Amino acid sequence: MLNAKLAIQSHSDHQTIVRLSEQVAFGGAELVIIAGPCTVENRPQMEKVATALKAAPVQALRGGAYKPRTSPYSFQGLGLEGLEILSEVRSGHQIPVVTEVMSIAQIESVATHADMLQVGSRNMQNFDLLKALGQVDKPVLLKRGLAATIEEFVMAAEYILSHGNSQVVLCERGIRSFDDYTRNVLDLGAVAALKQLTHLPVIVDPSHAVGKRELVAPLAKAAVASGADGLIIECHPEPEKSLSDARQAISLENMVNLVRELRPVAVAVGRQIAESFPLSPLAVSSLM
Ligand code: PEP
Ligand code: MN
Repeated sequence: MLNAKLAIQSHSDHQTIVRLSEQVAFGGAELVIIAGPCTVENRPQMEKVATALKAAPVQALRGGAYKPRTSPYSFQGLGLEGLEILSEVRSGHQIPVVTEVMSIAQIESVATHADMLQVGSRNMQNFDLLKALGQVDKPVLLKRGLAATIEEFVMAAEYILSHGNSQVVLCERGIRSFDDYTRNVLDLGAVAALKQLTHLPVIVDPSHAVGKRELVAPLAKAAVASGADGLIIECHPEPEKSLSDARQAISLENMVNLVRELRPVAVAVGRQIAESFPLSPLAVSSLM
């Protein structure tokens, strides 16, 4: 391993806890499940998602406002309007939101509207972006590059850490291989390795890994069994009508069922998945 000074486990068993809100943190006994559509499409869509998923419950919502699409002719996301929808849903439903930041110019507005800034696979080695995120006081969800080695992944995290931001969560989202039957190949060996090699929380994105909705649930279960600290999953009120990544979107109903099915898997590996949504900070302070 290259000279990763900050990301690497120095004494055994140290685990960094990354806070998403007062109530939700990555790296503890409780897993963090993030779910939502690939892209924020409109306000009613996100309202439906928030209502269904808060009951599941999941701990945070996802949805892209700035989308890194392979084709410049594909829908590129709603941009600032998407961020505003996210932040309305976030305050209306009191649930944290995670969304992608694609450039340094977007950092300020994404950090204003979201609780966690996602670096997409295509930007894992955008070193200027990583350095700039090192100066932000918000947690960063760093996704593994499409064909990045574990070492390159750890060094990308090192860029953020070494520029001052210690709140980094790693996300394994599948890597390119010779077989395109599944969109990518989920590298669970990397999850186990990263958990030993680093002290950072590691979550898994089974949706982009497999690319087919009927295969998302088994991979999500395998990810939890492999020691992941959480999941990020794409779901949609009308999966086939998703404006991006429709083939891998599961329904809200299937997402709610999946959370239930994941609980015994988590318990089998000494972890938990919350049964109810964390109390709002207001409710918590009234208990003190
Ligand atoms: C996404 O989360 O919607 C996304 C674009 O993921 P990735 O960067 O892993 O391809
Ligand atoms: Mn997607």
